[in-house]
Amino acid sequence: AKEKGKNKYELCTPALKDSLVKEMKITNSLYQALERDELELYYQPQLNILSGEIIGLEALIRWNHPELGIVSPGDFIFIAEKTGLILPIGEWVLRTACIQNKKWQDEGILNVPIAINLSVNQFQNTQIVEMITKILKETQLDPNDLELEITENIIMKETEYIIESLKKLKQLGVKVAIDDFGTEYSSLNYIKQLPVDKIKIAMSFIWGININDKDEAIINVIIVLAKNLGLKVIAEGVETREQLDFLRDQMCDEVQGYYYYKPMPAKQIEALMSR
Ligand code: C2E
Ligand code: CA
Ligand code: CA
Repeated sequence: AKEKGKNKYELCTPALKDSLVKEMKITNSLYQALERDELELYYQPQLNILSGEIIGLEALIRWNHPELGIVSPGDFIFIAEKTGLILPIGEWVLRTACIQNKKWQDEGILNVPIAINLSVNQFQNTQIVEMITKILKETQLDPNDLELEITENIIMKETEYIIESLKKLKQLGVKVAIDDFGTEYSSLNYIKQLPVDKIKIAMSFIWGININDKDEAIINVIIVLAKNLGLKVIAEGVETREQLDFLRDQMCDEVQGYYYYKPMPAKQIEALMSR
């Protein structure tokens, strides 16, 4: 028993303790983030690779924490998922993105679909179809201008319910993109059953362009697969001219990444569009 106790103690290193304390702080303040209006959406443009025209936006959440400053989703989404806060936060993301996109369309600032990210929890014990239908109605955004990004992990966890839900949303006109394609545990079989519109090639492959032949081969296969299935294909995490050139040669349709634009606040999108 003594041995065990000792090992247990050693597992809790100062670094681990620090990260646990940080996580507890984040958890406590996350409960108030919504009501204190500390959450914000940033928007990252997606471009047609040939024309360079902006053809879409991805909404990415940020948290303006009173002490920590801007907290990125990587540091709090998993906590939101653990605590269940992802449900109200996810609904806020959807509503905010729809309101913003509708406003930009009405004001003639830009007229493109907006993509939001979903967590698996939003497909568990929730009425996601009803929630999305309600918000589309409430915000008057055309369902064709809303795209849902889901990962293979989400699909493999809740396959039946996701197929059923997405089919209903598809009937409304909502679009579906598979995020981080090729990086997670999955079976290609789902692609036959899901009403998918777009595949997003994961950045890890893009960053291997001109460095690793295998990444290039995988990118090539993903693009060919998408084309043969009649799906759009977008490369994310595009940072260099060389990556862009390779993707254009491979006939990738769309790109998103720091090479063109970083995710930015709504005001900056407006400044960009009025240039
Ligand atoms: P993701 O959906 O794969 O989003 C892409 C991430 O890559 C974003 O990080 C974006 O800022 C970043 N990125 C875009 N272009 C480049 C590039 O050229 N180079 C590099 N190095 N990075 C690039 P971010 O905003 O920190 O988001 C991280 C993840 O958090 C997202 O990954 C997504 O899984 C999750 N997330 C973000 N917003 C939401 C949300 O509203 N709801 C949920 N459930 N998850 C979200
Ligand atoms: Ca995404
Ligand atoms: Ca992604």
